[in-house]
Amino acid sequence: MVKTSSKSSPRRQSLNKSIRALIAQHLWLKILIGMGLGIALGLTLSPAGLALVPESLAQDIGSWVALPGRIFLGLIQMVIVPLIICSIILGITTSGSLEFLKTMGLRIVPYFVFTTALSISIGLIVVNVIKPGSFIDAGFVETAMSSGQGHVPAKTFEDLTIPERIANLIPTNFTQASLDRDMLKIVIGSIILGIVMLSLKQAITKPFNDLCVFGQIATMRIISWAMVIAPYAVFGLICEIVIKIGFDALAGVGMYFISVLAGLLLMLCAYLLIISLIGGRNPITFLKSIREVQLLAFSTSSSAAVMPLSIQAAEEKLKVRPEIARFVVPLGATINMDGTALYQGVAAIFLCQIFGVDLSAGETAILLLTTIGASIGTPATPGVGIIVLATILIGIGVPPEGIGIILGVDRILDMCRTTINVTGDLTATAVMERWMKKK
Ligand code: ASP
Repeated sequence: MVKTSSKSSPRRQSLNKSIRALIAQHLWLKILIGMGLGIALGLTLSPAGLALVPESLAQDIGSWVALPGRIFLGLIQMVIVPLIICSIILGITTSGSLEFLKTMGLRIVPYFVFTTALSISIGLIVVNVIKPGSFIDAGFVETAMSSGQGHVPAKTFEDLTIPERIANLIPTNFTQASLDRDMLKIVIGSIILGIVMLSLKQAITKPFNDLCVFGQIATMRIISWAMVIAPYAVFGLICEIVIKIGFDALAGVGMYFISVLAGLLLMLCAYLLIISLIGGRNPITFLKSIREVQLLAFSTSSSAAVMPLSIQAAEEKLKVRPEIARFVVPLGATINMDGTALYQGVAAIFLCQIFGVDLSAGETAILLLTTIGASIGTPATPGVGIIVLATILIGIGVPPEGIGIILGVDRILDMCRTTINVTGDLTATAVMERWMKKK
């Protein structure tokens, strides 16, 4: 009586259950409400706002209301490494043959590099046209920098030559790479493992394959639990930051905020163009099919958390073959972050404008290349784009403490850039579906 097709397999059912929990009940709306209330409460308590309570009490309240947010971020970060490893391995094993994988790899990697470069270029044009840096006054810079100092991350990239960096991509110690959350190494290690599995007999690989299936289901279940507190998380994290930096920090960076949003919107238009010209599809239908994925990306700020839903949307709504969707989406979620790259480019130039750093054409090209590299290495979790930005800033001679200036609006921008990141991955699946057919 019981039929087991790939659609109704226990794995699919479990994933569906977690995914349904994630998209239930207008999560995005609750998140937006959480965001609004967080800003309102923050402004009421902040010493630089209405200052309704003494400063020390406001700081205490801030850290308590941010607690659900810390738990939320902790849970997502806890599952990110196993989720990526299992999804990439399963993605490769479903592709069925090494030949297919090779053809796909040779097309998708240059495509990803192209869209990332396009995205940063759009960002650089927008930020140079709007010049958000010229709207900032010096007093505000000083206050924001001092309040942001506690958040400035340590330098994360080693000082290596280019050949050393390339050689360094092989995860000589996979555990260390996981401990360091070095996503590029994790992706490369998982790809190697997946290829090994593809080249062995199924009887040998079955136990490990089952382990990966469990890993994917278990991590998704944890993410769906974490999402229950997402609106409170956003409320608390935004409230805490507004208490710390006050209204000026939000208003002062208004033009910067608009520049990033305008860039992201233009990138969305670029995707729609790619979808109709290269993917051969109707852009409006495409947007309708991926709406739920976008809303979830907006709510979670994590391309990795959304990955299983993206795969499902690609297969069921965009009718992309599973062997393409299951390889392109996990790979894209980790190495193709067009929204993050655009945002990093805009933020870097914005801070250059504030600090009076004039970039020559050569330096701008270096910024473009570093940003491509940085967005590839950025883990697909909330709020990390800004951490990686610090290394880009060091490279172009901008004090990384400048991050304090843009910290206030980062959570909201993170939601928006993650939405673009996943839209980029889904666009890639549609393009690959067309390109792989033409073969
Ligand atoms: N949150 C982004 C993502 O997961 C990464 C970032 O830009 O912070 O796609």
